[in-house]
Amino acid sequence: MTTLRPIGLARFDRAIISMRPEMKICVLGAGVIGLTTAWCLAEAGHDVVIVDRHASTAKDASAANGAQLSYAFVAPLASPATLRKLPSLLLSSESPMRIRAGLDPALVSWGLRFLLACRPAAMRETIAAQLALAALSRSELTRLTQSLMLSFGLRTAGKLVVFRSRREFDVARRAIVATGEQQILTPAECLALEPALRLDADELAGGIFTASEQVGDCAAFCAGLTTRLKRQHNVEWVLGTEVRGPVRSGGRLVAIDTDKGHVQADHFVLCMGAASAAFAKACGFHLPIYPLKGYSITLLPAPEARVLRHSVTDMERKLVFAPLARDGRTAIRVAGIADLERGTTIDAGRVEILRRASAELLGIDAAGDIEPWCGLRPMTPDSRPIIGWSPLQGLFINSGHGMLGWTLACGSARLTADMIECRRSVTAASAFALRRAA
Ligand SMILES: Cc1cc2nc3c(=O)[nH]c(=O)nc-3n(C[C@H](O)[C@H](O)[C@H](O)COP(=O)(O)OP(=O)(O)OC[C@H]3O[C@@H](n4cnc5c(N)ncnc54)[C@H](O)[C@@H]3O)c2cc1C
Repeated sequence: MTTLRPIGLARFDRAIISMRPEMKICVLGAGVIGLTTAWCLAEAGHDVVIVDRHASTAKDASAANGAQLSYAFVAPLASPATLRKLPSLLLSSESPMRIRAGLDPALVSWGLRFLLACRPAAMRETIAAQLALAALSRSELTRLTQSLMLSFGLRTAGKLVVFRSRREFDVARRAIVATGEQQILTPAECLALEPALRLDADELAGGIFTASEQVGDCAAFCAGLTTRLKRQHNVEWVLGTEVRGPVRSGGRLVAIDTDKGHVQADHFVLCMGAASAAFAKACGFHLPIYPLKGYSITLLPAPEARVLRHSVTDMERKLVFAPLARDGRTAIRVAGIADLERGTTIDAGRVEILRRASAELLGIDAAGDIEPWCGLRPMTPDSRPIIGWSPLQGLFINSGHGMLGWTLACGSARLTADMIECRRSVTAASAFALRRAA
């Protein structure tokens, strides 16, 4: 939950400490994090190589996410509220959260860190860090969108978070008093603001509305950015190529081993999403990123249906509903579910939860083509990305953005490029350093 003001951009102020000459930098992974990172590095004049196992970009977690750009309302999964609800969350078959990993030692260690991150002080620190990074992301996304003329349905739709539990609403309400950016609404005001909601007022405890929040199609943004990157003379593509492991020399990463041979560079940036942890392990260090599988469906309501005006989050069910421009009409992206498990097989039962929720909340008969999709969020225990130099010289990490990768991509890319170029001090970004999470 957004409870604090951003910690101020002073924390992220750029300081020219020294400027490095142009380098050859290899970006591992072409999801939204890798692409934005590649853009910032190429824009600064470096030679960039982008490697991905797929033949095209944004095929994994960045393909059909919830489309919300949550700059002011970050809600870390690791929180006292999640901890309180954990037993019921894990025991109910209808729960939006599930663990199906068996006895996975990586999950045990991740889980213990997650429990520590649920402490109120830890959550407050995460929120402050996320808000500062989100503010940087917002300005960077605006700059990119305007300078590159990217078209991806970006819209300031506003975000309404509805609460069914009085207790959860009270906690959220108390927490946002100081910010002034969010409005607290009664159930009747929620329904008046968003007429597409088919709920009765007595089903709700209240809502929080943030008018400045945006929506945008992440896949369309990635496609636009890929086109621009392909026009850059200093960007080389190595697609359809599986990264297998590191090639070291004198304690430094000098190349990566792929199924098509070695790729050499001066520096490497790890942006392989949920697969980043495996590469780190091969490099000899632990990266606490675990896959948190989520689902989405995309609906095209009948022309006579009430249009969803704002993006809506159902806090109880942990589901988001976002209006997306599509072929001159408004589609609705419904996303959610948090299953700690590996693999990208679509579970029809989980899709059914989204379909039923669309019928109940918005009265949409989602029987037709619903474009079911699932993706693996690269999740850290404290819900904060890891951005910084790794223990292996030459390898920088920009990964682990969990539920907010689309929101935080542009700011994380800026931070990454600035740190590699030594424009920003490492301590300035210590909230995202590996050692805080390792
Ligand atoms: C259901 C769902 C809803 C979401 N909703 C939102 C939302 O509303 N707002 C928001 O801000 N965020 C949202 N997110 C989170 C966001 O989508 C992710 O955090 C983000 O997409 C992560 O981007 P990434 O580039 O790190 O990972 P990915 O997009 O997964 O990219 C990783 C890339 O690495 C490549 N790769 C991996 N292993 C290898 C290998 N061995 N060799 C070569 N290439 C490799 C993959 O092919 C892939 O292209 C949602 C996520 C999900 C799943």
